[in-house]
Amino acid sequence: HSHHTVLIAGGGSAGIATAASMLNRHPGLDIAIIEPSDEHYYQPGWTMVGGGVFEKDETVRPEAAVMPKEVTWLKAAVTGFDPESRIVEYSEGGRVSYDVLVVAMGNRLAWEEIEGLEETLGENGVTSNYRYDLAPYTWQLVQQTRKGRALFTQPAMPIKCAGAPQKAMYLSCSDWEKRGILGDIDVEFHNNGGVLFGVADYVPALMEYVERYGIDLNFGSTLTRVDGPAKKAWFATENGEVERSFDMLHVCPPQKGNPVVAASTLANEAGYAEVDQHTLQHVNHPEVFALGDCSSTPNAKTMAAARKQAPVAAVNALAQLAGNPLSGSYDGYGSCPLTVERGKIVLAEFGYGGTLLPTFPKWVLDGTKPSRAAWKLKAEVLPQIYWHAMLKGREWMAKPIGGA
Ligand code: FAD
Repeated sequence: HSHHTVLIAGGGSAGIATAASMLNRHPGLDIAIIEPSDEHYYQPGWTMVGGGVFEKDETVRPEAAVMPKEVTWLKAAVTGFDPESRIVEYSEGGRVSYDVLVVAMGNRLAWEEIEGLEETLGENGVTSNYRYDLAPYTWQLVQQTRKGRALFTQPAMPIKCAGAPQKAMYLSCSDWEKRGILGDIDVEFHNNGGVLFGVADYVPALMEYVERYGIDLNFGSTLTRVDGPAKKAWFATENGEVERSFDMLHVCPPQKGNPVVAASTLANEAGYAEVDQHTLQHVNHPEVFALGDCSSTPNAKTMAAARKQAPVAAVNALAQLAGNPLSGSYDGYGSCPLTVERGKIVLAEFGYGGTLLPTFPKWVLDGTKPSRAAWKLKAEVLPQIYWHAMLKGREWMAKPIGGA
């Protein structure tokens, strides 16, 4: 089998950013990334595709274009971890050993957990911004809808971008409001959880929009089954099963740990790679680090979090290689730019324990209030920061800017 000093499992947002950050700190370092996909996605853009703001092509680039030139790309899928022997197994019997391993394989969307969903996604008014190919269908449905009932669902936590289910709803309502037809559409939010947003400081601003749009909030209501052709959905609630007919249904799928991570000894019981929440070092294997949506850290699973975690993982993995103490520490920063209407965003930024971690002073941008400045950040600045700073390991440029 082959050997690399640093092996990174997954070439998504977190994996590429970590590789770039390590190479900036240590030019010429021997790094390999295992990643099966030909495409690399900017997933935060999918909310904007579903809202008719971005074209879907703006959210994808060839994987080869984002892979740092100095990196060896093993174009394969990881199939197993053997951390005792420091070996990673990949598709078609490949094996590779490492001095340091960084696990960044994302989470898994469990579409199959909702009966009848997979066969009707993309048809019969059933859509989701959680898939690149379906986000344009969300916008198509918003435009087609003139009256009837629109349902938006949110599964159990943790999910990536906890605000995305309601972002889809607000942007849809904003369009219907502009067209003067919102009053003819019943909008319902069905949330498995018991609150609109996990950090209380942002809830008042969101509630104003819920009232303005006339949204019917249903907490403790979990989508379990869909019949696309009959345009019906079923929800589990504490009062038993509830049946709703719909004209449009936007689904946020249940989410799980990455299956290969979950099946390995790196995972905790929930299926996430079990690392220290500050150093990102594995609790049992000091030469293993994990970050992004596949890790156990209890932050909001966002690109913004991955952006702050990548330099921490890079610094600490390099320290581990050199036999030095780990100096990098991650504070739990995550961000969720809530698109409350077309042109305005409530920019939630917070760390562990729900501590607010605003990037800007209040007089520049107050994250707890809807603002046009935050919309400009999301629509114009952050995609550029992503492609040109985060994925290049240019932290001086990425650091002072919130959101994703
Ligand atoms: P990913 O970027 O998903 O990358 C995982 C990589 O691992 C992929 O390239 C995949 O191909 C690879 N992989 C998977 N399995 C294997 C395997 N077996 N072997 C090798 N490689 C494998 N975040 C924000 O900050 N702000 C937002 O506004 C926002 N909005 C969002 C809206 C939507 C609709 C969605 C879906 C997400 C949103 N996010 C947002 C979340 C953000 O996209 C993720 O948190 C971020 O992409 C996590 O990065 P990651 O590298 O951990 O995972």
